[in-house]
Amino acid sequence: MSTASTTTVIPDAEFGYELLVCRYAELAWHPDAGPRPVVVSRQLGTKRRRWDTVVIEVDPDAFVRRRAFGPRTIDSDLLHVVRHAPAEWAWYRDALPDPGYPWRYVRRAVHRAADRDLIEKRRRGNRIRIRRKRPYPDWVRRIVAIENKPDLDASAADRLVDQLAHDVDAALADEVWLATETTGERVEPALLREMPVEVGILMTDFATGVDADAVRVDWHPSDLAPNSTLAIDRDDGPADRGDPPGGGSRTRGRDGEVVTRRLEIAERAYGKGWRSFHDTMRPDCRNFELRRSGRALVPYCAAKGRTPTARECAGSCPEFAPEPPGWRTNGWPIEGGPGSGIRRLLDRRRRRLRDGIERS
Ligand code: SF4
Repeated sequence: MSTASTTTVIPDAEFGYELLVCRYAELAWHPDAGPRPVVVSRQLGTKRRRWDTVVIEVDPDAFVRRRAFGPRTIDSDLLHVVRHAPAEWAWYRDALPDPGYPWRYVRRAVHRAADRDLIEKRRRGNRIRIRRKRPYPDWVRRIVAIENKPDLDASAADRLVDQLAHDVDAALADEVWLATETTGERVEPALLREMPVEVGILMTDFATGVDADAVRVDWHPSDLAPNSTLAIDRDDGPADRGDPPGGGSRTRGRDGEVVTRRLEIAERAYGKGWRSFHDTMRPDCRNFELRRSGRALVPYCAAKGRTPTARECAGSCPEFAPEPPGWRTNGWPIEGGPGSGIRRLLDRRRRRLRDGIERS
């Protein structure tokens, strides 16, 4: 077991690739429009569709005000209360919009919000009155979805086409990308031509690191933002991507429900980040290591000799070798075992990145 080995490793599992894309986005987003402050997360979306990497482009000033609400996700029930809590004391049913579900659930959320210090509450008679502590800020500028496919073969491309077309049509994200690895071989252009034309293509070569130089834009995405014109320019990309079917332009809008769902995704990204793999994997296994890949730290299993998938790195793994209880007690090496040390290291990294946005 070791923490942050300095050996350079290129993860060969899709999961490892996903972590490198997340780290790249954190360091160098946007790929062709210059640096933007972002919060990065992974495996988020809706019941129907989960995105591999989610990049939330944030307004830095509003992000500072969002952080005043604390580091945890404000879930959908809490958002309903926090976003609409009034500046002056009022009965919660007068102050909040009709939720479309029973008010008793709202009352429960009011108590939770007050317990988390997100709002103030007091009782007058049998009525609960609420007041905001601070306005909930408009901190999300854009939401970007990235599908990661390090080995883009024909069957993977087939599956992706429908998924990406759904992303474009749903317009939950402002921009959709496909990231694929180019190390040592050329990606078949015909496979890329099958993708929806609104989807951008990122070619990565993480063998050289995870910064901006490791990524090349092969095709520029369309802006899916509300009422934006999806101008599909036949010259706006490499010739071998082919002519876009149905080229031209069209407009779209987003209703209030979509706006709320986007905010819920952004909140989950904020609370989860992308390093939370330590919550589901087994950093308390003796074989678990963090290894360096350029400027990223990725999990490595000494028993398997590679990056384990999130699913196989579990208590049910046949090679799972738990830390001896003695490591977790007696303050080893400082407090807790190496597994606890890895968790603290990853949490520290996430906090440092967020402090960096505030200073930007
Ligand atoms: S994959 Fe198995 S052996 Fe490897 S670190 Fe995870 S639990 Fe331990």
